[in-house]
Amino acid sequence: MKSRIIVALAGNPNSGKTTLFNALTGARQHVGNYPGVTVERKEGSLRHGNFYMQIIDLPGTYSLTAYSDEEKIARNFIIDEKPDVVVDVLDASNLERNLYLAVQLMELGVPLVLAFNMSDMARARGYEFDLEKLSQFFGARIVQTVGNKGQGIKELLDAVTATATEDGGKVFRSTDNASADYIEDQPAADVFQGHMPSINYGSEIEEEIRKVRTLIIKDDVAVGKYDARWLAVKLLENDKELRAFVGSPAVNGQVEQSIAHIEKVIGEHPETAIAGRRYGFISGACQESVRSTIEIRHTTSDKIDSVVTNRVLGLPIFLGLMYLVFHLTFTLGEPPMGWIEACFGWLGGIVEGWWPEGSESLLKSMLLDGIIGGVGGVVVFLPNILLLFLAIAILEDSGYMARAAFIMDRLMHKVGLHGKSFIPMLIGFGCSVPAIMATRTLENRRDRLTTMLVVPLMSCGARLPIYALIIPAFFPQVWHGPMLWLIYVIGILLAAASAKFLRSTVLKGESVPFVMELPPYRMPTVKGVLIHMWERGWLYLKKAGTVILAISILLWAMTTFPGLPGDRAAQFEAARQEITGGTMPEAEKTERLKAIENNEAEAALQSSLAGRIGHAMEPLLQPMGFDWKIGTALIGAFAAKEVFVAQMGIIHSVGEADEKSETLREKLKKNYSPLVGFCIMLFCLISAPCMVTIAVTRRESNSWGWALFQLGGLTLLAYVITVMVYQAGRFLGIGIA
Ligand code: GDP
Ligand code: MG
Repeated sequence: MKSRIIVALAGNPNSGKTTLFNALTGARQHVGNYPGVTVERKEGSLRHGNFYMQIIDLPGTYSLTAYSDEEKIARNFIIDEKPDVVVDVLDASNLERNLYLAVQLMELGVPLVLAFNMSDMARARGYEFDLEKLSQFFGARIVQTVGNKGQGIKELLDAVTATATEDGGKVFRSTDNASADYIEDQPAADVFQGHMPSINYGSEIEEEIRKVRTLIIKDDVAVGKYDARWLAVKLLENDKELRAFVGSPAVNGQVEQSIAHIEKVIGEHPETAIAGRRYGFISGACQESVRSTIEIRHTTSDKIDSVVTNRVLGLPIFLGLMYLVFHLTFTLGEPPMGWIEACFGWLGGIVEGWWPEGSESLLKSMLLDGIIGGVGGVVVFLPNILLLFLAIAILEDSGYMARAAFIMDRLMHKVGLHGKSFIPMLIGFGCSVPAIMATRTLENRRDRLTTMLVVPLMSCGARLPIYALIIPAFFPQVWHGPMLWLIYVIGILLAAASAKFLRSTVLKGESVPFVMELPPYRMPTVKGVLIHMWERGWLYLKKAGTVILAISILLWAMTTFPGLPGDRAAQFEAARQEITGGTMPEAEKTERLKAIENNEAEAALQSSLAGRIGHAMEPLLQPMGFDWKIGTALIGAFAAKEVFVAQMGIIHSVGEADEKSETLREKLKKNYSPLVGFCIMLFCLISAPCMVTIAVTRRESNSWGWALFQLGGLTLLAYVITVMVYQAGRFLGIGIA
């Protein structure tokens, strides 16, 4: 065991650093100057138990930037000389301001002890600290001291020796000098290493940090001296000394680009934004662990916070805002949805015009039913989704979302989730794909995986047409709203239950303490909000353009081939001939022809690959009250939820149908009970998320295992629950007539 410990005392001016230094070392002091500057360097030594300690009183600083000689000396001493322990002396009666330095030391990854000095003053001012919580938040032991009375000195020395002797003493705790490729290959890993508290600078800045950090590691700019993430943050803060130190043109170029990008999107210089997030981290930590018997909060942000994070008002305000978001999303989304529908209709008309009327061509059918129908069905929800993302971006950029996460934390904690899990889940109501990507803000791997796995239970926009078709078909007008609400609530409750289950089984483990980050409130910039909205919306569109396109074609093929057997086709043809040659009135003719056409389409689908699979699955589906027709449509729904409605239309021989089709509703009403209708919605809500979601889960968790677990788990859950509901409903006689 090491017996010699080097301790650096850091702290704000007037925090009582020198007083503490004197109390620690007594007369054994040595005063000199730091080389080249007129800053005093004080050293002393002492013995504590078996340890010989050398203590250096660093110049008092508020920060670790490179603006003054004092700051540079303090910083370079810590980085170059690697003291075994850094003791940060804080004025506990002025904690929030003093913690700014502590946060930077924490980010530096040094073995840290916090001396809450002036604790007599703090007490006199009515502060009460939850030291255990604070200690977890900052990843450091905390000792309360009263320097001028020599109180807490022994405890401080004990904390120093304990810190110096754990995990290898001199080794910096941060491990952020691993290979660069894990960022590219495993975006997940970057935030999974929850070994040390770190500050989340918000997606926009984090993305730039990631870029710079990758290059730093690639060009070996940190030369084993600096922590790569720390260096990246400092460069973005435009730290003069470090900017001059970095010789790599690649890194410098990226830094310039990133700074410009952040300024453009956030409307603030990164330096300001980064400092703001640090203060946000601090005020969040304090709000949770410092109680004051005397009112001292006063800034505008504080005033807003005292209302929106209020114990009583917080939740109602939050719920009200959420209601507003969803209400606006759906009402404002209505007109553009109509335009998009019209657009695709027009496009379909043009394509149809390429062929002479009544001609049957495979290519035409593929273009119309496969591509335009499939992709159009997805794109139609773009307005809803963009509006939802717009609202979320505004709430995020204004700083409210961080508070909402805190308000929700208590609730989320009950099911073993983190307050921050709540934002991805909210995005999940739009589309699971950006939602799963939004789980990146969660530091803890288990929290993140749990959130990822249950996000698809948040009923996404693509499931809406299914509800929109079925609810009016089976339930009276007054029930429409409550039914939809019920489905959403079932999803949320199941997500909570599944999360609880996962967190107490496969993903068991301590949950990390949640530091509420309270960035200052600010007006979101139009540009920033639009960019955020677009980034997430683009993912949805990309899904429509690539995977959905491919799946639509595949589905079209599955539902078209092998086609009707020759004799059956001949029968339909003969029936057609008979009518055309007949003597009935024109109107009746068209109607009868249409009926034949629809019957033929149904027969073709029935004998197609999808229809055959549906038939084969029927025994499995029966316990849920489903027949082969629903089964066939569900095959489509697996590819993408929104395909279900169109498939139901074809298979019930009403030809082309959308969620507003009355004829299809009539058919459904005739063939199925309301109980079955409800079970369809239930199954679609819970069952396997669409293929794109699985692919994203695989990428973000960096594991096929978890992706398949999500697929299998949710499908099984859907099956079990739907069977239970159907059987119970039948037994109790609910909704069967
Ligand atoms: P430095 O600038 O951080 O080195 O601060 P000093 O050690 O010079 O202390 C500034 C003033 O605070 C001195 O007058 C000290 O006597 C006083 N002081 C230091 N520690 C405490 C403490 O724990 N409680 C109180 N009430 N005063 C303290
Ligand atoms: Mg001093």
